[in-house]
Amino acid sequence: MTRGVELDGVSVAFGDVSALEDVSVSVEDGEFFTLVGPSGCGKTTTLRTVAGFETPDSGTVRIGGEDVTTTPPEERDVGIVFQSYALFPHMSVRENVGYGLRFRDPPGGVSTRERVDELLDLVDMAGMGERDPTALSGGQQQRVSLARALAPGPDVLLLDEPLSALDARLRERLRVTVRGIQQELGITTVYVTHDQAEALAVSDRVAVMNGGRIEQVGTPETVYREPASRFVAEFVGDNNVLDGEVTSTDPPRVTVEGVEVRLPRETALDPGESVTLSVRPEAIDVVTGSGNGRTTLAATVESVEFLGEAYRLHCTWRGHELLVRSGERETPGETVSLAFDPADVRLLKSETQA
Ligand code: ATP
Repeated sequence: MTRGVELDGVSVAFGDVSALEDVSVSVEDGEFFTLVGPSGCGKTTTLRTVAGFETPDSGTVRIGGEDVTTTPPEERDVGIVFQSYALFPHMSVRENVGYGLRFRDPPGGVSTRERVDELLDLVDMAGMGERDPTALSGGQQQRVSLARALAPGPDVLLLDEPLSALDARLRERLRVTVRGIQQELGITTVYVTHDQAEALAVSDRVAVMNGGRIEQVGTPETVYREPASRFVAEFVGDNNVLDGEVTSTDPPRVTVEGVEVRLPRETALDPGESVTLSVRPEAIDVVTGSGNGRTTLAATVESVEFLGEAYRLHCTWRGHELLVRSGERETPGETVSLAFDPADVRLLKSETQA
């Protein structure tokens, strides 16, 4: 049996506000699938539509191949964890986790008590069942929320910014825990976050959303290395995005601010076409001299940030800000030569500009 989730042409509007426009996406059985994008892009609405809290104005929602578009939330086999811990303060941890089992037998033929113990063990909270939720840290409360969502053995787990109320270090630790549990159970998971680094870190695949639409779906590596649009190039990771015009198609060359930028040999271009290019900061080197077929730009260092494993240089070049990852600290105010290989230049069609 497949336990995937499919949205087919789903649109949702709130009065005049169009929250989702013709969203189609297919989450595979057992996949960790993340919806990522800026505030207001429609991530939560997408998740709420899968859960059944929103009914689409048009389109179809399927869970496990079955059309659930008009099925009420309580009849959908999903577990949900929200950003706010939403635990019942007057119940113990054990009672909170057992809450979802009031109307449903625990899976696997075990008693409710055994099931709750299993779940507390899974989220590394064994022995804490009698505690009051208000006596737990934020991270522990989210573990309990996760155990509660998983207790009935749902087919699909929905997570809406579950870590965003936690501090950065704890967030990083807990995302590894969540991913580990998801893999152990093999449960189809839809995860919502505005944090692109978190999305890249934990997901099998990512959907980058913008303005109620999906801009790109792919593995973390694909959306990072091969962004399909200017929006994705700028939203996922640091990037340098420049507009230019095609001045040669063979070999492929684009002129940006009067400087010829070489592109990968196989890039297909139309003469005179307006295009947008992107180059990652880590693909740019500070060099002395030029050569080797690389594009070289003379830029001014404006400021330097020490990141631990490298420096991030904020440079300006002909009115554009360029970000560069460098192993060396450079001096603000100095002019440096920046060089990058044609193979590291990514072509983004200008018409895909957000
Ligand atoms: P955030 O990261 O800020 O939670 P999001 O990507 O989850 O954002 P949604 O909450 O899905 O975005 O909202 C999408 C759009 O729909 C926004 O413009 C939002 O203001 C609007 N919206 C969402 N819920 C409602 C509602 N109940 N009534 C009216 N407008 C709504």
